[in-house]
Amino acid sequence: MTDISRYHRQYLFQKIGEAGQQRLVSSRVTVIGCGALGTVLVNTLARAGVGFIRIVDRDFIEFNNLQRQVLFDEDDIKENLPKAVAAERKIKKINSQIQVEAIVSDVNFTNIEGFIKDADLVLDGTDNFETRFLINDACVKLAKPWIYGAVIGSHGLTMSIIPGKTACLRCVFESAPPPEMTPTCDTAGIIAPASMIIASLEATEALKFLTGNIQDLNSTLYSYDVWTRKSQSFKLEGLRDATDCPVCKQGKFEFLSATLSTSTTSLCGRNAVQVTRPDKIKLDFKQLASRFEKIGEAKYNPFMFQVKVDGYEFTIFPDGRAIIKGTDDPAQAKTIYAKYIGV
Ligand SMILES: [Zn+2]
Repeated sequence: MTDISRYHRQYLFQKIGEAGQQRLVSSRVTVIGCGALGTVLVNTLARAGVGFIRIVDRDFIEFNNLQRQVLFDEDDIKENLPKAVAAERKIKKINSQIQVEAIVSDVNFTNIEGFIKDADLVLDGTDNFETRFLINDACVKLAKPWIYGAVIGSHGLTMSIIPGKTACLRCVFESAPPPEMTPTCDTAGIIAPASMIIASLEATEALKFLTGNIQDLNSTLYSYDVWTRKSQSFKLEGLRDATDCPVCKQGKFEFLSATLSTSTTSLCGRNAVQVTRPDKIKLDFKQLASRFEKIGEAKYNPFMFQVKVDGYEFTIFPDGRAIIKGTDDPAQAKTIYAKYIGV
């Protein structure tokens, strides 16, 4: 049995107790997305003693992330670290008794089941509807509980989903709202207390679930604005039975079967597009650098390759996935990718 004395103040809390703490120590979670929400989730759950944390994130760290992404610092940017790798390094210093697995990857229909199939719980640290619907599909299909969280400006939403028991995300939101209806970090920004509070609520739900306090899980879609202190709880009881949800009722996993997924994604507020290849490759960065010798300024480490060329900034990962900065047009991004990286 693991020595749990470092968690004393936590298991003094009567709802957790020593038995609950032992359950946390043997729990496994997957956190998808390691930005504003994900860094708070990972930080809180690692300190709480969750025994295994898998962190999946596709991105690298930029200066404008440090305002709210609590696990990162300026040294991580100097080292050009992907978020998942920087988070893993930080967490190992915070709690060396737990296991952390960093995965630098886009989450898509080809890989998500592998990331969640051995987890007890999945936590949402993402920033877009498409990935959340994909998480919802995969979690309902594999009967994995998951905690939804979303933040914009000073306002956020969260909801706990137990497949087969509670409403799922698509019982609540049938489809993603049209882009012109949704504020993005471009237009609305985000303040750190908002993401910290919503992620803390998600982490609390995780603690309840993992310690066996399932009866205490929040049964509503909860909305909170840190600026106005306005909160709302939308009751969800009976919704699962009342709707004709494509996922829960019709068993159609449209995002998982890729009928609705794309290979390019515009990145919120970044003037950047991600391009993902359908094939599996392993890029040789040294060779790639020689290609750019005369036309651009390239640098790389084992995790990623960066080059500025033609007014665009490419960040390329070993699996060929690229984030292209300098455009928000997916078609243009595909063209540039084909021109410089090849297909
Ligand atoms: Zn549903």
